[in-house]
Amino acid sequence: MTQALPPVSTRDEWEERVSKMRLPEAAYVAGHPVEAVSGETFANFSPTTGNIVNHVAAADAADVDRAVAAARAAFVQGDWANSSPGDRKKVLLRLAGLIRENAEELALLESLDMGKPISDALNVDVPAAAGVWQWHAEAIDKIYDEIAPTGRGDLALVRREPLGVVAAVVPWNFPLDMAAWKCAPALAAGNSVVLKPAEQSPLSALRLAELATEAGVPDGVLNVLPGFGETAGQALGRHPDVDCLAFTGSTEVGKYFLSYSAESNAKPVWLELGGKSPNLVFADAESLDEVAAKTAFGIFYNQGEVCSANSRLLVHRSVKDELLERLVEQAAAMAPGHPLDPDTTMGALVSREHTDRVMEFVESGRKTARLVVGGERLTLSSDCYVTPTIFDDVSNDQEIARDEIFGPVLSVISFDDEAEAVRIANDTRFGLAASVWTSDLSRALRVSEQLKVGTVSVNTVDALSPMTPFGGFKQSGVGRDLSLHSFDKYTALKTTWICY
Ligand code: NAD
Repeated sequence: MTQALPPVSTRDEWEERVSKMRLPEAAYVAGHPVEAVSGETFANFSPTTGNIVNHVAAADAADVDRAVAAARAAFVQGDWANSSPGDRKKVLLRLAGLIRENAEELALLESLDMGKPISDALNVDVPAAAGVWQWHAEAIDKIYDEIAPTGRGDLALVRREPLGVVAAVVPWNFPLDMAAWKCAPALAAGNSVVLKPAEQSPLSALRLAELATEAGVPDGVLNVLPGFGETAGQALGRHPDVDCLAFTGSTEVGKYFLSYSAESNAKPVWLELGGKSPNLVFADAESLDEVAAKTAFGIFYNQGEVCSANSRLLVHRSVKDELLERLVEQAAAMAPGHPLDPDTTMGALVSREHTDRVMEFVESGRKTARLVVGGERLTLSSDCYVTPTIFDDVSNDQEIARDEIFGPVLSVISFDDEAEAVRIANDTRFGLAASVWTSDLSRALRVSEQLKVGTVSVNTVDALSPMTPFGGFKQSGVGRDLSLHSFDKYTALKTTWICY
């Protein structure tokens, strides 16, 4: 049983907790922690401490075979797959409760692994993950099947069935939340799951597996394989006994999964990929203070490591200078700090390699645009900190406007009229999200209709809830996470036609 520890409130207390904490390091298969079949481990670097925090089982193809076999055996045995939706609901609600009871531990694992501020991990990520488990658990016994309108003498039942073994491969930016977005609907629908967290952030997924067992998820129904993409990830993508592959990550790797599927068993592949989301500010926006505050949040929150980050600010020329002035103030207020300091609002980037990459974009921006603020790499607990950065006078064909930087870097582009704003917004290979700021309802609706993105937030940024589907147009992906639509990905419709 897990035991609640006393609440923690200062950086010293969090650091003391780290020093006493058990960090998960084994893979989790068939309800138990196991070493990798090869016995190999990999070093788990923390940008929060600047050190290797532990060594974690390095799963590869042999581990994938073992975990998929365990998932299949559990599915065929049927304790989970054949249980009533109401029974699965009870177990998954218990899991949501255990996530909340263990919030501090999970938040700490999250912050250690990927450098996010502990306050965000504790107040946003962990409650959000619990909320996603709860929402899908509560939904599953409220979805009815169908009877087709055949007429007398025929009865055609249209029922949803779980697919079998679902593999989920997820990124490091919101490890616990991304795991919940995939696993909660897949498990609620009765599937077995093999989850592969990113190699940068294995800890919270491994703890989640233990909590799932404690909640009553049968052995083999949720398996977790820490390991690298080219080995464990690819083996899942190519496995002939995986019925469905749900991926969140970069567009580049998402495309690999399409080919893995084509070259193996043609499993359905659902992709939540990258973005370069535009934030359109019209001159009639109600409050530039509000726009500045939300714009800063939209690009700097989570160190800018957000798929739907509003990384292109498209602003009407007449209000640009005024808005920029306010944005610079916001950026200054978000200076990076130690992730375990509860007052920190911007933490460390996930790794040295990723920080190097972000700084290459900053260098590219210095050559092509005008640096307004930031652009510095800092060494605090590690050298993975980048100050909030704003480039002005960017044109949409520059690298910093076209590529996903996945760091705290904002590109500001001016426009003169609505048609130009929409054209620039859509001139990207991505289509995940967009924001529109205006006090004119007709304009809000007109522009929203024209934007080729999965979510348009009007007079806010990043509107998001388990109730609404999330995903992308174009190269931002295929399929939708969250909402009742997420069950479509993890179930197949079966028609049973009876003549009488
Ligand atoms: P990534 O694509 O490098 O890795 C994601 C996952 O894929 C990891 O588990 C990784 O181990 C695995 N992987 C890497 N190479 C692989 C390969 N060759 N074969 C199989 N698996 C492989 O992405 P990342 O750096 O972890 O995360 C950042 C990306 O995720 C960004 O592009 C971001 O936009 C995207 N993202 C999208 C959403 C969304 O909902 N659309 C949400 C969060 C993050």
